[in-house]
Amino acid sequence: MKKIQISATIMSCLAIMLSVLCATLSEASERVRRKSGLPPVGYSDTVNIPGQKWRVHDTSRPEPGIIDPATESTADLPGSPPSDAVVLFDGTDLSQWKNSDGDAAEWKVEMGHVEVNGTGSISTKEGFGSCQLHLEWATPEEIQGESQGRGNSGVLVMGIYEIQILDSHNNRTYSDGQAAAIYGQFPPLVNASRGPSQWQSYDIIFEAPRWEGEKLTRPAYFTVLHNGVLAHHHTAVVGRVAHKDPAQYSPHEDKLPLTLQDHGNPVRFRNIWIRPLTDYDTDRW
Ligand code: MG
Repeated sequence: MKKIQISATIMSCLAIMLSVLCATLSEASERVRRKSGLPPVGYSDTVNIPGQKWRVHDTSRPEPGIIDPATESTADLPGSPPSDAVVLFDGTDLSQWKNSDGDAAEWKVEMGHVEVNGTGSISTKEGFGSCQLHLEWATPEEIQGESQGRGNSGVLVMGIYEIQILDSHNNRTYSDGQAAAIYGQFPPLVNASRGPSQWQSYDIIFEAPRWEGEKLTRPAYFTVLHNGVLAHHHTAVVGRVAHKDPAQYSPHEDKLPLTLQDHGNPVRFRNIWIRPLTDYDTDRW
């Protein structure tokens, strides 16, 4: 017992010495910088960047957080989640999702993907505002239906702003309703669709709208990459998704669940992750 106490004491002494050494090295490096006539890092005597509370090269501007991107070994799998992502579906279960009644989501999970099965749209249990979202989807191999009836689903950010999912390979439909459209508002810049049953990806950057009470002070914005190709670049959203009616805004909470649509077609999904972009929900900029 005594031996254990002695080694614990030695270990804690070593830990203290190490932390003192690190702090000393850090201070020494700062002293070297100052001695060399270098300013700390940045400036405190410059003017503000127009429209921002920060000076140009502001010394006090917070350093961006450091995260681990997908490792080199997964770099051949574009879309692998970085270390700070909330993984919503990793191919195993729907524990992060619920159905429209708030009960457990019942879509069919098999072989690393989940498939729409007619049990209704599903939503995340957690709510999100501004975010970066990655998801992969595939429309049915067997081609059935046409226009909006072929491989229809959708990803509804906050449950109300829809990026359309559709088999848009050799399948003409109205342009603001094809794959990667901001449904009912903007067609994608190009049709970057792959064929039926092939996996496709969406990388979506969404800025939530802002409200002062009931008044909209800033619209929502979408930036969307479809299979790595730009479909929308910081496009101002007209309002909530609507069918055959003009979209319009109505006030809502700052964070709402993400929804995947059951439109009656067996569309598959895999590798779904999200990164809340809380800086865009605040006045940090
Ligand atoms: Mg849809």
